[in-house]
Amino acid sequence: RKISEKYDKVFVNGCLDPEVQQDAPRANAAFVVLARNKELDGVIESLKSVERHFNRWFHYPYVFLNDGEFNSTFKETVLNYTSGTVEFGKIDSEQWGYPDWVDTNVAKEGIRKQGDAAIMYGGMESYHHMCRFYSGFFYKHELLQKYEWYWRVEPEIKYFCDITYDPFLHMARANKTYGFTIAVKELKETVPNIFRYASAYKRTHNLTSQGLWEMFTEPKEGYNQDGTPKKKDSVAPEDLPKDDPKYAGEKQKPLPEDILRTEPGAGTLPDIDPDAMEGEIYNMCHFWSNFEIAKLDFFRSQEYEEFFEMMDRSGGFWMERWGDAPIHSLAAGALLGPSDIHYFRDFGYRHTTIQHCPANAPTRQLPRQPYLEKTTVDEKLRREEDEYWAKWDTEKENGVGCRCR
Ligand code: GDP
Ligand code: MN
Repeated sequence: RKISEKYDKVFVNGCLDPEVQQDAPRANAAFVVLARNKELDGVIESLKSVERHFNRWFHYPYVFLNDGEFNSTFKETVLNYTSGTVEFGKIDSEQWGYPDWVDTNVAKEGIRKQGDAAIMYGGMESYHHMCRFYSGFFYKHELLQKYEWYWRVEPEIKYFCDITYDPFLHMARANKTYGFTIAVKELKETVPNIFRYASAYKRTHNLTSQGLWEMFTEPKEGYNQDGTPKKKDSVAPEDLPKDDPKYAGEKQKPLPEDILRTEPGAGTLPDIDPDAMEGEIYNMCHFWSNFEIAKLDFFRSQEYEEFFEMMDRSGGFWMERWGDAPIHSLAAGALLGPSDIHYFRDFGYRHTTIQHCPANAPTRQLPRQPYLEKTTVDEKLRREEDEYWAKWDTEKENGVGCRCR
């Protein structure tokens, strides 16, 4: 098999002539920006960068969303910095805030406790709402109904390199569903129970891994990758010290029915060891969702809907501070395979303190996709891939690639 069939690779090498791109057809796509009025400066910073490095040639439309009303200063200023059409939408209370089946006293108390525990954004009610909106609702907003693809933009982001090709069209051509540029580890204390529900979803829907699930999981100590207890050269789970809290729940238990809440009224997460279900744990890895280029149909599918429903009904968006990034990632892990994912390794991107820079030597030491790392491929293919990337890097250094600044 050719590398192009086996691996996800960069869509376009070097720079295309942006003027030529102007005549190409456009995808049915839009930028999606959730923001508040007070974030205008950060929004302008993002728009300048997006326009300078991409949209001044492509003129894709923007959809701005807000749980409140955008004021006229915000709207007028945004129009001065955008080269595509712009729509402003308000998110109504069905898509933002507490659903009626939640006991708000319990939820608010849960959020307060997370604040006391100094969990990042844990005590901030609006942040919980935002995460739930981006997990289960943005793609249902009426202004997004007409679109097939979206590109998420946040205040205070920066692109470093010119993007001279249309990522939407290339996603479609390559049959990709979800694109990312940075994958990082989640703060454990924000998602202590998330994996129990995600893995319960996968199991109850009889989903077998297509190879992406492994990006987000690792065998629990004493277990093999397939979930069976290790026999030799390690302590059998039943021999682990039972009174040591570190090993509590190490004994494999069947999934208790009661964690699969079907009754409305969620608000408490069952007090069960998060790792007790299977021989695997969540490794905290997730696609950093402030950048996303994805197909909206993925989120609109019945499978994703059922996934979101199970996660939502657990109460984890309130009793913990589940981010939309691990939610999107675990859903992708359960429902998609590596070939559905595109790593935009050629996009120089920064948001606050984390960045991905294609022209930065240390990051180029690891050009391979992390989720392929565990896959055994024959050495010849691996060498071919290395050569492919070496060539790409050299072209960049010689200035053949797009300008990065
Ligand atoms: P961080 O990137 O995780 O630090 O979180 P942000 O504060 O950047 O929030 C993520 C996204 O949600 C950004 O696009 C914010 O503008 C947006 N956002 C967060 N909270 C709210 C909110 O209460 N209302 C609105 N309209 N947008 C919000
Ligand atoms: Mn942000």
